[in-house]
Amino acid sequence: MKAIVVDDSRAMRAIIKRALIAEGFEVCEAGNGQEALDELNKNGAPDLALVDWNMPVMTGFEFIQEVRALKQFDSMSIMMVTTETESSQVEAALEAGANEYVMKPFTPDVLQDKLLMLGLAR
Ligand SMILES: [Mg+2]
Repeated sequence: MKAIVVDDSRAMRAIIKRALIAEGFEVCEAGNGQEALDELNKNGAPDLALVDWNMPVMTGFEFIQEVRALKQFDSMSIMMVTTETESSQVEAALEAGANEYVMKPFTPDVLQDKLLMLGLAR
């Protein structure tokens, strides 16, 4: 399975990427929503996108809105990656079309649970 990690923090991308590789994913990265959208348009949608909220150029929320307006990416699951202080935004993300969310910092167990809920665990 394939995933894209969308986060403006290189360190955070590395952490999430490592966790996803441990779950058997092939992972690519994007530094903001626009980069991720470009990647999807170029190489097609992966099975899963893990999306940070606060990013320059295009936020995670804007990315979800853009992607969910496009039919060709319907099959891609979206997991919002939020901090505790962004917890009030979770509802908005789910309403916009995110399938799940995970709170930073998270353990591999938590990520695995969320992947199970999305039917994406090994
Ligand atoms: Mg960020």
